[in-house]
Amino acid sequence: MLHENLSVKNGRLHFAGYDTIELCERYQTPLMLLDENMIRSNMALYKSVISEFFPAGSMPLYASKALSFKEMYRICKDEGIGTDIVSIGELYTAISAGFPLERAFFHGNNKLDSDIEFAIDNGLGYFIVDTYDELYAIDRIAKEKSIVQKLLLRLTPGIDPHTHAAISTGKVDSKFGTAIETGQALEIVKVALSLENVKLCGFHCHIGSQIFEISPFCNASDIMLDFINQTRKEFGFVPEYLNLGGGFGVRYVESHGTIDIRQAIKDIASHVKAKCQEYNLEMPKILFEPGRSIVAAAGMTLYTVGSIKEIKGYKNYVSIDGGMTDNPRYALYQSDYTVLTANKMDEPTNYTATIAGRCCESGDLIQEDVQIAKPTRGDKLAVLVTGAYNYSMASNYNKVARPPIVMLGKTDRVVVKRETLEHLTALDV
Ligand SMILES: *Cc1c(COP(=O)(O)O)cnc(C)c1O
Repeated sequence: MLHENLSVKNGRLHFAGYDTIELCERYQTPLMLLDENMIRSNMALYKSVISEFFPAGSMPLYASKALSFKEMYRICKDEGIGTDIVSIGELYTAISAGFPLERAFFHGNNKLDSDIEFAIDNGLGYFIVDTYDELYAIDRIAKEKSIVQKLLLRLTPGIDPHTHAAISTGKVDSKFGTAIETGQALEIVKVALSLENVKLCGFHCHIGSQIFEISPFCNASDIMLDFINQTRKEFGFVPEYLNLGGGFGVRYVESHGTIDIRQAIKDIASHVKAKCQEYNLEMPKILFEPGRSIVAAAGMTLYTVGSIKEIKGYKNYVSIDGGMTDNPRYALYQSDYTVLTANKMDEPTNYTATIAGRCCESGDLIQEDVQIAKPTRGDKLAVLVTGAYNYSMASNYNKVARPPIVMLGKTDRVVVKRETLEHLTALDV
């Protein structure tokens, strides 16, 4: 099947060794499942291969925007990796989980003064700074608090890795980072080096998402190392860290490619090593920020089929008890997903279905025209590979409550509770 954590027994879909239909009965639907073993082994894989091929101190940072709740940070802590966070909400969640903040890196293109203060007060390890305003603000606030704050600068290497425009971020024309091509990156390094209450520790780039080849990473690292060669010449500055971002691809449907993470990191390492030798540079500590590739295939969402509407000559709409409120990715990017009729795994997949959510929005679809075993009301649909950018992008549109998350490890346990009607009105006065 699509990933090794999927199997079929007695016509029922099993996930991470658990019978999905039994889980639906126990927890009700919609239901989000996570395979703990896969999350841990993905983190451990990144950690071991990065420390094998890069200098000591190199490590993966889990890009927690992919899926952020307390237990995820506990697992990161347990597996000994760092994390990248994008808001004080994510930071607060990490703090609440006891995550060691010296391994936290704070991203985002518009950090507010109050965000910066909150992070510094809580002992954040590193800011990843996008532009001047933020750099000056951090210096000012650090000075008020009599500290020297460590940071990395986010640069745009000018690379388009040919994924969807909305998830491609390394181009010059981007709201993120400072461009190398325009000379602004060199300028901001000069400023950062001149400020007294910040310590420049490295450079960061993130070129995009769903990347299956290593060439965009190699191209980005060439540009970054070339830039480091320049900062050495201009300012005698060689950074401790080079952060190459995230973006490793994940297989959502059979037709997608795969990427061997171990081989990819190994090949990127030998490329970076050769480039460093060419410039006679000591290799910086390398950071990666995998999000999707750690958690996506470890997730599955289960729904119950409700109304089915067949329009002759058009579509067969199969409505489910969830939709864009728990998975907005098809509505946003027309993302591909594999859909299975989880209780009819032995039946032929000869029914063309468009999976529709319950919102008052025609775009509230999970997938159009997919081939599944013919469902009837009450059947269970599984949408695969929903661990990344589903729950973290979920909303309460139409006052729809968000599903619970159940972690499947040695036992099954609720790690995020189902939202109730009371939760939905908790903030209303
Ligand atoms: C989104 C993002 C990531 C993670 O990307 P994935 O495709 O989930 O691996 C890493 N770093 C930055 C800066 C990001 O914005």
